[in-house]
Amino acid sequence: MGLSPPAGRAVDAVKLTRLQARIRACTRCVAAGYLDRAVPVLDGDIGDRVMIVGQAPGVVELTTRMPFSGRAGAELRRWLARAGIGEHDLPYRTSITKCFPGKAATGSGDRRPSPAEVALCAPWLETEIRLVRPEIIILVGTLAIERLWGPARLGDIVGRSKRSAALGGALLIPLPHPSGASRWLNDPANRARLDRGLTLLGTRWRGLQSDTGRR
Ligand code: SF4
Repeated sequence: MGLSPPAGRAVDAVKLTRLQARIRACTRCVAAGYLDRAVPVLDGDIGDRVMIVGQAPGVVELTTRMPFSGRAGAELRRWLARAGIGEHDLPYRTSITKCFPGKAATGSGDRRPSPAEVALCAPWLETEIRLVRPEIIILVGTLAIERLWGPARLGDIVGRSKRSAALGGALLIPLPHPSGASRWLNDPANRARLDRGLTLLGTRWRGLQSDTGRR
């Protein structure tokens, strides 16, 4: 849940509600033969000044219909709490593709959506960002990072941030995927990078709390 929507955003709020209804009714990947079943999952309001973009929902979200409600989501919420973002402040939550892609063929973790699925879903995310105009976008996992930050190694960018002119000037803050399937956090140096990323997020979050203005 975000801060109160700024004045003059009523039209965008209506557009966002309509957009979310269209996304939740989307079956493009079923029609194209990539998915057996489409259950698009996202949640958030026009007043959200922070947006989280993950890879895709997991199997738990098929039932709950709420983003980041599985085990990885619980870990992500613990990370957000470390940055001072509590359950009542949950940001806008969406993903690169919005339907559970199925399990990976390796049996470990979820299948990474194909470039074709990413391309089919991309217009939804672009419009969400354009309407919500988040001031901070948290990129969770390598697919979201590749799409919105650009090619980069996790170890080179977690703990850093940069502004994106293409995304309305939003500050991008990359984080690793919180799934237990990722071994990246087994390395103490990477856990230190995550600490720096969460400290950075907390600093920027507190800045938003004290600044009621908006771009
Ligand atoms: S992943 Fe995106 S494009 Fe594909 S069916 Fe779901 S909402 Fe539609």
